[in-house]
Amino acid sequence: QRSPRPLSDLAPDELDELLASTREDYEALRTKGLALDVTRGKPSAAQLDLSDALLRLPSTTTDRSGTDVRNYGGLAGLVEIREIFAELLGVDVPQLVAGGSSSLTLMRECLVDLLLFGGVDSPRPWKDEESITFVCPVPGYDRHFALLEELGISMVTVPMREDGPDAAAVAALVADDPGVKGMWLVPTYANPTGAVCSQEVAAELAAMPTAAPDFKIFWDNAYAVHHLGPDEAKSADLLGLAAASGHPHRPVMFASTSKITYAGAGVAFMASSTEQVAWYLEHLGKGSIGPDKVNHLRHAELFGDAEGVRAHMREHAAIIAPKFAEVERVLGERLGGLGVARWNSPTGGYFVSLDVVPGTASRVVELAKGVGVALTPAGASFPYGRDPQDENIRLAPTMPPLDEVREAMEVVATCVLLAAVEHATV
Ligand code: PLP
Repeated sequence: QRSPRPLSDLAPDELDELLASTREDYEALRTKGLALDVTRGKPSAAQLDLSDALLRLPSTTTDRSGTDVRNYGGLAGLVEIREIFAELLGVDVPQLVAGGSSSLTLMRECLVDLLLFGGVDSPRPWKDEESITFVCPVPGYDRHFALLEELGISMVTVPMREDGPDAAAVAALVADDPGVKGMWLVPTYANPTGAVCSQEVAAELAAMPTAAPDFKIFWDNAYAVHHLGPDEAKSADLLGLAAASGHPHRPVMFASTSKITYAGAGVAFMASSTEQVAWYLEHLGKGSIGPDKVNHLRHAELFGDAEGVRAHMREHAAIIAPKFAEVERVLGERLGGLGVARWNSPTGGYFVSLDVVPGTASRVVELAKGVGVALTPAGASFPYGRDPQDENIRLAPTMPPLDEVREAMEVVATCVLLAAVEHATV
C-alpha cells in the first residue's frame, strides 16, 4: 500500500527510485499491446441505441397543423420540437429556431452572416472592421477556436472558473476596444472543465459595457440537459438577463440533440432576440427552402414533451456516469496526494479536464501514445492549439466501454507520474 507523499517532499534518491519503478510500470504497459482512444466526446453505441425508435418514426407525415412535413417550407423549424426545447432551454418558442443536425454549422452561419452583412445592431459588416477579436475562456472547445482561426478572427483568452469565465477580465477586454466583437461560452457543463456559469456571472456578462455596439455572446449550451446525476445544474438565463440590461441582441444561444439522440442525425437549435432570429432567417432563406421537418417530427414523437427529454437523459446518465466515476477513482487512487495533477469531477457534460505538472502535458500525451492510448493533443483546448503552461489534457470517457476507460486511466496515471518525475529529476 502506497502512502502518498507529494513529489516535492521526496529526497533526490527517493525520486530516482520512483523514476526507476515508474519506468518499469510504463514498460510493462508497452507489452500489453493496448489500442485505446479517449480523445473525442462521442456517445457510445449503447447511448445511440437509446434513440433507435427514431428509425421507425415519424408515425405520420403531417404535423399537428396538418402540414405535410415531407415538403418544403417552415424555415424556423417544426413548432412541436421547438416547443419542447424552448422549455428546456428557457426561451420563448418564437425566439427558437430548429435547423439541421449540427449546432456548429449554425454557429458558423451566424459568424459568416455577421462578417458579410453585420448584425441587427452593427454599424457595418464585420469584414469591414480593421480587426475582429473574440474573447475565449480557456480551457475551451477546440472547434470554436478552429472556426475563428479559419475566419481570420483573433482570439484573446480569459480563465474559465468553476462559476464561468472571469467576468472582470472579460469586462476589461471589451470595455475600450470596439474590435472586440464577441466571446464564446459553453455555460453549462463546459467543454472541457465541466464548469457551470452562474446566474451572477451571466448577469455581469449581460450588463457589461462594451465598446462594440454589436458585441455577441455565443452561448453554446451544448450540454444544457446532460446531467450525470441528481445534482442538476440549471442554465443561467442569459437571454432574459441581456434583455433586462438593455442588450437584447447580445446573446446568440446554440444547442443540439447530438448527444441526446444521434450525433450527426439530431436537431440543432439557435435562439436569440426575435429581431436577431428574423435576421438569421432572412439570410438562411437565401440558402434553404426549409429544414428537415421529418427529422424534427420524429424527434418530437420520440420525446413527447420536455419531461420525455429529461427521462431520456437519465438513461444516458445511467450508461456514462459509471465511466466518469471510474476516471475519478483511478486518478484518485493512483495520483491523489502526489501533487502531480488536478482534475475536475463534473456533474454533467462529456469531459474531464486534467491539469498535470506545468510543462509536461505534451510529454504525457506522447508517453500514452507510446503504449497505445490516444489522448487529445495537449493544447487542443486553447486557441491556436497552444497551452502556454503545457499542463491541460482533456479526457473524454463516454465512448469506450467501462473496462477500456479503466485501462486508459491506468495508463494516463502512469504517464502523468512518469512525466512529473522526469521533470523533477532533470
Ligand atoms: N458545442 C460543444 C461545446 C461541443 O462540445 C460540441 C461537440 O463536442 C458541439 C458544440 C458540436 O455540436 P453539434 O454536433 O451540434 O454540431
